[in-house]
Amino acid sequence: MPDVLVAGAGPTGLLTAFELERAGVDVLVLERDPGPATQSKALGLQPRSVEVLADRGLLAAIEPHARAKLPAGHFSGVPIDYRDLPTRFPYQLGVEQAHVTAAIEARLRTPVLRGAAVTAVAQDDEGVTVTAGGREHRAGWLVAADGGHSTVRMLLGAAFPGRPARTSLVVADVTLAAKPAGLAEDWTLPSSGSGYLLPLSAGRYRTIVYGEEQHRLGRDAPVTADEVRRALTAAHGPDVVLGEVLWASRFGDASRQLERYRHGRVLFAGDAAHIHLPVGGQGLNLGLQDAANLGWKLAATVHGTAPDGLLDSYHDERHPIAARVLVSTRAQAVLGVPAPDAAAVRAVVTELLAVPEARRAVAAELSGIGVTYAGVSGRADVPAAPDGRAVLIGAAVPAGWTGRVEGREGAAPRLVRPDGYVVWDGGPGLDEALRRWVGAPA
Ligand SMILES: Cc1cc2nc3c(=O)[nH]c(=O)nc-3n(C[C@H](O)[C@H](O)[C@H](O)COP(=O)(O)OP(=O)(O)OC[C@H]3O[C@@H](n4cnc5c(N)ncnc54)[C@H](O)[C@@H]3O)c2cc1C
Repeated sequence: MPDVLVAGAGPTGLLTAFELERAGVDVLVLERDPGPATQSKALGLQPRSVEVLADRGLLAAIEPHARAKLPAGHFSGVPIDYRDLPTRFPYQLGVEQAHVTAAIEARLRTPVLRGAAVTAVAQDDEGVTVTAGGREHRAGWLVAADGGHSTVRMLLGAAFPGRPARTSLVVADVTLAAKPAGLAEDWTLPSSGSGYLLPLSAGRYRTIVYGEEQHRLGRDAPVTADEVRRALTAAHGPDVVLGEVLWASRFGDASRQLERYRHGRVLFAGDAAHIHLPVGGQGLNLGLQDAANLGWKLAATVHGTAPDGLLDSYHDERHPIAARVLVSTRAQAVLGVPAPDAAAVRAVVTELLAVPEARRAVAAELSGIGVTYAGVSGRADVPAAPDGRAVLIGAAVPAGWTGRVEGREGAAPRLVRPDGYVVWDGGPGLDEALRRWVGAPA
């Protein structure tokens, strides 16, 4: 019997499973789809996600697939310079999401169980029983990372307040039968406007289509080649001729967040916990950070070493971060509306974002580099312990302490949580920090 079941083999579920496994926890990932994802919703990793993946030795397998290192993010298409961010990776890594998930999955010890859609969840004092693919699975805990339409969320009747979708957009990967000589073959930022074309690998292009037609058609209408063709012609004129639509999907601008990320022995992460318009490149990154925050806390809980309140600190720390992203993406959506007053707001916001202080604040937020939590003094530049333990640098592990902490030589004294955040940086307070984040001494 695994210690933890994870519903969903998207980026959030896979990184959660990786985090748990490296901390010595037995995990089984249950995935609805029969095979690994081949299509990519997201095309970029924000700097904090690149740090997290690099610290875990996962970046090396992702980087060869990257199309670009973009030295900027964007706020609804307004470029936000990242070059002075305090990180080794002051850029967005332009890479298709499917390469990110493949790289993480390749490092899991226990293979993902596919064709295993979760259909029922029951929990009691000792654990959870999950029905998936017609079979019952039992474990101590369930992580629900089954995406924006989360079945687990519905089965539990978890409150998911927010705003319903008011419009819908189309994402499509296409080939072109004809294109103008000047069509950019490099990734540049910002790419915006309905019908923009971003080159992917193997002669494919990504386009996003939105406007009156998509608004009228609504979320459930199938995407047709004619619809995509009309949008490309409207954006580029007759020089761009659609070849084939290889993949297309509609998505909405609903904005919702779970009231509570923990429901007894079920913890929600990623899109299962929060949904918003995918503008500014935030969703995948939020999910990866949720996983990095939850993994070690749940592992300590499974091992019986977690200090009181550690697992609940997952909700306390991560809920406000996604709540802020929901505000930011709603604001960005307003800027993107094709209306005269929206254009006026965009002009003013563009001016304001040219002010260095404002630009730096927004860059810190979009990149994830500015994310911080109560009691945290910064991010560490040291790799996490391979087995997901906290790392104590430049100080002796106090006598009697056999908790999950690894001692390391180094100049500046620091206690680094397994997710890379510094919770003590010299002076008094080491015992208290260890007690709060690592657990009581043996
Ligand atoms: C067009 C578009 C562009 C985007 N661009 C970006 C971007 O540039 N940057 C960015 O950061 N984010 C972007 N996003 C958002 C990003 O793709 C998502 O936030 C991200 O995929 C969330 O990851 P997840 O693992 O939480 O959920 P998902 O990726 O949705 O994965 C959930 C998994 O659960 C599985 N599942 C579903 N139901 C069940 C069930 N009942 N039982 C078992 N398994 C189940 C699914 O098959 C899936 O594999 C974009 C989204 C869209 C739609």
